[in-house]
Parts: sequence; C-alpha cells; structure tokens
Amino acid sequence: MIQVVREQKGSISVYKLSGNISEDTHFDDVMGPSNPEMEINCKGILRINSMGVKTWIKYFQTCQKSGTKLNFSECSTAIVEQINLISNFTCGGTVESIYLPFSCLSCKTELSGLFKTEDLKKMKMSLPTLKCTKCSGKAEFDDIPEDYLAFLGK
Ligand SMILES: [Zn+2]
Repeated sequence: MIQVVREQKGSISVYKLSGNISEDTHFDDVMGPSNPEMEINCKGILRINSMGVKTWIKYFQTCQKSGTKLNFSECSTAIVEQINLISNFTCGGTVESIYLPFSCLSCKTELSGLFKTEDLKKMKMSLPTLKCTKCSGKAEFDDIPEDYLAFLGK
C-alpha cells in the first residue's frame, strides 16, 4: 500500500509518497494526472519490488512525455538502489536529495543522513561522519560509496 499526500509549493506540486510500491500500486489513481512541475518526495518509500518498478516507470514516463519537470527529493535507500540499477528510473527527472545509511562505530546504531546530490558531487566520494543520536559517537557511511553513489557519475 502506498499513501500520497499532495501539497502545492508555488508552481510546484509536491507529492509525499510513503509505504510499499508493488503491482498493486495504481499511480494514476493515487497521484492523479501529471502537472507541469512535480516534486516527488520519496522519504517514506520503504520497498519497491520489480513489478512496482514497472508501474513506477510507466507512470513517470507518461509525465515525461507530457513535458512534466520531475524532481525526486529525499530519496530513501530503497529508491536510491533502483536509481542505480535502472538507468531510466527517474524518467528524465532530477534527483535533488537522497538518504545515506550510516552506522555508529561504537554502539552500531543505524542512522540515515540526508544529503543534496549537488553537495555529494562536490564531496567526491569522501563522505563526512555523523554524530550518533544515541551515544554521540562517530557514525560512518555504511555502504560502498562507489556503488551507492554510482548514479552521480552518470
Ligand atoms: Zn552510537
């Protein structure tokens, strides 16, 4: 099941998506017709399966064809995975910001950090550490930068 909360930010229609995306997700119904400028907030997307990817691409390709400006923001790790795997996942849209998984070196707490893709490009794979919310220790990026950020170089 997927939930969509829609709000208007000036000329941009913002859609906050949360839940799981599968063959049961009917984007036409939950999103409605495309708008000239759409921001898709992907923070709450937990999982997307292969059938979900197909329905996703079908919907956003239709938006792309109608000339919609697509911008994907706060992409969850599940979405970043797909952006890296599937070359046309964003259907010509831009990726504004993504979540990165971090893990505390002392207490192993898992954290996520939100980064703008623009800033990540400037960092050139050398990622900062975060402060652990539990023990204030040092949390390091918990994946392989060259894999997780592969889409930045495309
Ligand atoms: Zn910690």
